[in-house]
Amino acid sequence: MDNKKLPLRILVLGDIHGEISSVGRVVMTVQQKRFDGIFLVGDIGVASLENQRERASKIKNGIYRASVSCVFETLRELGAPIFYVPGNWDPKNIGLNLDQVNNVDLNGEGHICKLGDFQIVGLGGSSSIGMNFPYEWPDKDMKDRIKKIFEGVVAWNKTIMISHDLPFRSKIDINVQKRHAGSKAVRELIKDFSPALCLAGHIHEGVGLDVVGESSLAVNAGSLLTKQTTDMHLSQRMVNLRVSYEEQFFVLEFFEFNRIVAEHFFFLGGRLMVRKYIKKEDGIFADTSQGQQLLKPIEKATKSPLKK
Ligand SMILES: [Zn+2]
Repeated sequence: MDNKKLPLRILVLGDIHGEISSVGRVVMTVQQKRFDGIFLVGDIGVASLENQRERASKIKNGIYRASVSCVFETLRELGAPIFYVPGNWDPKNIGLNLDQVNNVDLNGEGHICKLGDFQIVGLGGSSSIGMNFPYEWPDKDMKDRIKKIFEGVVAWNKTIMISHDLPFRSKIDINVQKRHAGSKAVRELIKDFSPALCLAGHIHEGVGLDVVGESSLAVNAGSLLTKQTTDMHLSQRMVNLRVSYEEQFFVLEFFEFNRIVAEHFFFLGGRLMVRKYIKKEDGIFADTSQGQQLLKPIEKATKSPLKK
């Protein structure tokens, strides 16, 4: 991998929450493609909305860990190295040591990783919203803490940051109540260091792209929770969150700092659709090169990766 030629092509999955059949559907869909890396932005294992004690005992009983290892094993079928951070629903230390599966959470057990000429850094968990998730931190201390570690990075224009939490006050941190709910620390870190990419998740309904700081492309990869009608506690009241699409994922091709092509794939009524975007010096543009059709249905892959 060391002298890998550009473009670098990566698969990015949003919050999985143990939806293993969805991961299988994604793997079946992309199995013919070649990826240099697979990036998971956290909230990987099963997370029911039960109270803390029940959740803790589930983790102890191994259901959580089994779901995480199932996710990783399925993705390993694609034959590319996996980079991840734990999310706020995951424990800080997921505790799985699998070959080619790299934890890059610099606030937890992870370390700075290399992928060809690129460096991969990460920040797992999320800023606290006072609800006692397994992995949270106070937003005000985090910037200085991570900044010290980020100083070990050599070339930020070839660095990919994975952050479960989102840059505050961006186009991609708007929650179901139409409020910005991201992290100021994440925003400041992107502004100070200008990574080539910041890949995030956390706020499922904020899925999309934005340019943050000087010219960093930030992606909220959304979630793989499918056909879900979930009751979520947000700001101390129940909000009914309806996710109407099915599985989704992003494929990113990095040509140079100001030329990144992002494809957002999603299933809608059983058909695979794609929206294509290009990041240039002056922003992100929808790619209309294939006519005016931004929503292009694609044939579904038919072969199962599990039956070779
Ligand atoms: Zn999530």
